[in-house]
Amino acid sequence: MEKITSLAKRRGFVFQSSEIYGGQSGAWDYGPLGVELKNRIARNWWKEMTQLHDEIVGLDAAILMHPRTWEASGHIENFTDPLVDCKKCKARFRADQIPPECVSEKKCPECGGELTGVRKFNLMFKTHIGPLESNDESNIIYLRPETAQGIYVNYKNIIQSNRMKLPFGIAQIGKAFRNEIVTKNFIFRTCEFEQMEMQYFVKPGTDVEWFNEWKKRRWAYYEKLGVKMERLRWHQHGADELAHYAKDAYDIEYLFPMGWKELEGVHNRSQYDLTRHTDYSGKDLQYIDQDDGNRKYIPFIIETSAGLTRTLLMLLCDAYDEEKVADKGNEDDYRTVLRFHPTVAPITVAVLPLQKKDGLAELAHDIRAALREDFATDYDQGGAIGRRYRRQDEAGTPFCVTVDYETKENGSVTLRFRDSMNQVRLPRAELAPRLFQEIKTYKRTK
Ligand code: ATP
Repeated sequence: MEKITSLAKRRGFVFQSSEIYGGQSGAWDYGPLGVELKNRIARNWWKEMTQLHDEIVGLDAAILMHPRTWEASGHIENFTDPLVDCKKCKARFRADQIPPECVSEKKCPECGGELTGVRKFNLMFKTHIGPLESNDESNIIYLRPETAQGIYVNYKNIIQSNRMKLPFGIAQIGKAFRNEIVTKNFIFRTCEFEQMEMQYFVKPGTDVEWFNEWKKRRWAYYEKLGVKMERLRWHQHGADELAHYAKDAYDIEYLFPMGWKELEGVHNRSQYDLTRHTDYSGKDLQYIDQDDGNRKYIPFIIETSAGLTRTLLMLLCDAYDEEKVADKGNEDDYRTVLRFHPTVAPITVAVLPLQKKDGLAELAHDIRAALREDFATDYDQGGAIGRRYRRQDEAGTPFCVTVDYETKENGSVTLRFRDSMNQVRLPRAELAPRLFQEIKTYKRTK
């Protein structure tokens, strides 16, 4: 993880928030390569979840929601972590993340000092809306701790505006905020993060079938992204973990450097959410089933909930590779390479002139200009060509185009592949179609 964190900073993927002031824990900034990667992951997920389905539509709901939302959802009452503090070293722990005997014997796992009893700590960030700064309950507002509630409260609007019929889904990507007690492991668990959630509304009785279907689809999604599948596994929530409203819940876990950790949840949330919002809003949220004699009922909800920023960390870990470079005949020559799938790589193709002089730079600019409308491109003319390849390998750029003296003569260029380091020569005019084809048929081999 240290290597990944340092590469992320050095190459401008992720910076500590407010670093010049000593940093703000639980918050991170995404630099030039990081924001491209994040946007591409989001776009890729969006395409997978909306463009490829007739019956899934998108939504972008506000972060600030009516406070009753969080009463209905159960967050005000139940969205808590058990917290203990050490009276001696002042360290703070989640009681469920330290050995149980430390909690029962009130003994600090770090210094052996006395621990306080367990307190419930609500993870929602609270603030005030309007000009009053008093702690008057009437102007309290929360930063949403999940994007899902924005979907539930809009479910009826979407049925009406888009004439949706069951089964159908609503997808959303957006920020969520949790006052996490322990934020370590880089961007794994942060106070401000992004989620990619899809809520699928189904007829009661078909929920188990749809739950299994979404489990299958979400697994296939990671396969398509080229993730090392041996580093993914399912974890079914046991009776002690299962939320009271959930009928069944599985997490997709990834083998991060610090161990197996949750990446995404696929949950059968039963009729809980819409029933609660019906009760708290007084609005009838039943679905009228025109295909079943206008029967009225509350749909079941199957949820797929993934962290966008956590997926970014997963992809950094999964793509990271160090490799001995055999071609140079130098025993100690290693390269660091990020083997991103081309659909999410921050830069798709870099154009590199062999030399700056003799018109090669101009020619390379011209070739880049022809590609940049369709691809995320980069241009680099500084230093030896080998070093420039290494820099692109480290940024995860799957393709490099080299412009040399032969280009001047006959218009052909070299296309170099990140993973194999193989090179092929082809006419300029064939570059774009070849890149499209390579992206479409990409298979990770290492
Ligand atoms: P955990 O048990 O790790 O706190 P959770 O089970 O509460 O997570 P969910 O509420 O199911 O998580 O959130 C869905 C997804 O959102 C998670 O799988 C994760 O990818 C992401 N996520 C949740 N909390 C955070 C966080 N604090 N920082 C980054 N991503 C998060």
